Amino acid sequence: MTAQIIDGIALSQKLRTQVSLGVAKLAQQGIKPGLAVVLVGDNPASQVYVRNKVKACDEAGFHSILEKYDATLSEADLLQRVDALNSDSSIHGILVQLPLPAHIDAQKVIEAISPAKDVDGFHIASAGALMTGMQGFWPCTPYGCMKMLESIGYELKGKHAVVIGRSNIVGKPMALMLLQQNATVTICHSATGNLKDITLQADVIVAAVGKRNVLTADMVKPGAVVLDVGMNRNDEGKLCGDVDFEGVKEIAGYISPVPGGVGPMTIAMLLVNTLKSAQR
Ligand code: NAP
Repeated sequence: MTAQIIDGIALSQKLRTQVSLGVAKLAQQGIKPGLAVVLVGDNPASQVYVRNKVKACDEAGFHSILEKYDATLSEADLLQRVDALNSDSSIHGILVQLPLPAHIDAQKVIEAISPAKDVDGFHIASAGALMTGMQGFWPCTPYGCMKMLESIGYELKGKHAVVIGRSNIVGKPMALMLLQQNATVTICHSATGNLKDITLQADVIVAAVGKRNVLTADMVKPGAVVLDVGMNRNDEGKLCGDVDFEGVKEIAGYISPVPGGVGPMTIAMLLVNTLKSAQR
């Protein structure tokens, strides 16, 4: 059996087209969705991420600003900038690119963002809203994974979903979203002793670890849906996920590749969240 590929590039393009239509509708009311991206320091990966996010905003017809600061920016100054963006009526979403330099308390900065503009969905109010099933912004990466499942018409009710990884930005919100759709959810992490026993029971597996080959073909039930969130480099320096794609695609029913899977979906969901914020 060879798995069907869940094409994150095609799906994200579809979503981005829908976002552009939403932007055109808002323009009739004189509103343009605005996203502010704040980058502190010169982490090369962060620079690529923010460039891609700003480019996606421009393509969707958003107003976007990129604020770049030296790594020596003080926490107080960053908090002041966030505060100014909170009060800027042309800005509907604020994204502070992580990681921040060590002298800045990232959680404090995230909590300083107005929950109404927390399009990354990392604020404690957004996390609480997701946990309690209230309206709020969902973190973009797991939200993108949910859209991928929706795109293949996958019915989660009664299925066993296994999430590998329990970070606040991917693993935990992913598990809550799957639970909200009535899946039975198991969360695995670095202290899980019998990972293979658990994944072999899974109808859906989301790998969000950050280590190559965390999931191999012998760990997957035939026909399972496998979503690969991981972003790693292989021995040749090429981008790869957490899943042994070549092996697992022979067993799974559906699989998302890296690159071209969850990554583009994350950016698309950022646009979706920012549009939603402007619509509100
Ligand atoms: P993270 O904060 O480092 O969390 C990794 C999780 O994996 C932790 O919960 C950790 O367990 C668990 N883990 C580590 N080794 C494990 C093992 N051998 N078996 C099972 N679980 C293990 O990372 P993250 O921010 O969630 O990101 C995860 C990956 O997704 C990274 O590669 C990141 O680059 C990628 N990512 C991609 C996107 C995208 O748009 N495609 C977005 C965000 C993140 P403990 O909690 O016990 O330490």
